Amino acid sequence: MNLNFITKDISEKNEKKTVMVTLRMLYLLVFSAFVLDTLLAGAETIRTYPWQIVILFVAVICLFASTYRVPTRVSLILFVIYLFVWTLSMIPVYGWSAGMQNYYIIILMLTFFASYRPVKIKFMLAGLVLLFRILTIGYFGGIRSAIVTDPNIDKLIQTANISAVFISIIIISYMFSRKDNEADNKLMKYNDQLMMEANTDKLTGLFNRRKADDILRSLKDEGGLENVSLAIGDIDLFKKVNDGYGHDAGDAVIREVGRRMKATCREDAFLARWGGEEFLLIFPGCNGDEAYVELERLRASIKAEPVEAGGHNISITMTFGLAELPYDRDTDVAVKEADEKMYHGKQNGRDQVVY
Ligand code: GH3
Ligand code: MG
Ligand code: MG
Repeated sequence: MNLNFITKDISEKNEKKTVMVTLRMLYLLVFSAFVLDTLLAGAETIRTYPWQIVILFVAVICLFASTYRVPTRVSLILFVIYLFVWTLSMIPVYGWSAGMQNYYIIILMLTFFASYRPVKIKFMLAGLVLLFRILTIGYFGGIRSAIVTDPNIDKLIQTANISAVFISIIIISYMFSRKDNEADNKLMKYNDQLMMEANTDKLTGLFNRRKADDILRSLKDEGGLENVSLAIGDIDLFKKVNDGYGHDAGDAVIREVGRRMKATCREDAFLARWGGEEFLLIFPGCNGDEAYVELERLRASIKAEPVEAGGHNISITMTFGLAELPYDRDTDVAVKEADEKMYHGKQNGRDQVVY
């Protein structure tokens, strides 16, 4: 049997579908109990309460359908409201002995399992449900059915209702106690996506400053003996690009520089956008001479072909400052050194790697 209409996932990427799937099952169960109660009580019910029956019937179908569209939290509240309205309007119809009042146990369980409210609020809501249940005793306790006179029918309705309540409790207990790997995977994937987005520069797809700071910190904290070289590169006379061709063309140039870096530098190089048109490059396992060769190749590739943007061919060059990570792994010192060398390169005619 295809149960997709129950197990269909929700559109929220950061939420498990457990609550919604549970609600769909509960709707089906309540719907079945509703139909069974009505059939058992006979045609008299529909004749005496035509509108109530029709409205409640249509409502439960619409609410089930709404679980594919509305957020989980809204669906939960709607279900609880429906359960209150249905039971309260049916207690006088089927009488106290039919046990409609027992459906409040379902609300009690949902309060604890299905809602993400703080524990204090959960206890408060549970208290409210209990209070409400006690009030129904005061108001309806022992009331006789307006239509059911046959004691056997009364017992059957009672059986249908208490079965629905028990099965609901079983469903809720099962759904919220099982280990749902599929749902966990969904959340983990979403978590990965968030992590990636938090570490990535939108314009270039390189790492961003945040991630660069993390990497520098871990290089410093973890120490190690292998050579690590670090460079800062800055696009030359970039203001002229912005002024001459517009900000969008400037962005296109930055994007293209990022692309050429990825295409030219070794796989294991860490490439980040450090600031506006400044980049940080880290070459693990490379001494300064090796990194210098890498950077020269990159510098040449950036200079070799103008960047096409907004119908213009924009020629650009870049200046790099290169430093080796010192023995004590003080990355701050290395960054400062690379920055100073880059600055010297700027003063010395640009378009060069200074080591
Ligand atoms: P220099 O060769 O000395 O580096 O000259 P420069 O013109 O590149 O000088 P500077 O580094 O001071 O200028 C950088 C300019 O880059 C200033 C700023 O308006 C621009 N800029 C910074 N971030 C962005 C960005 O994300 N997009 C665009 N289009 N421009 C940016
Ligand atoms: Mg610049
Ligand atoms: Mg700059």
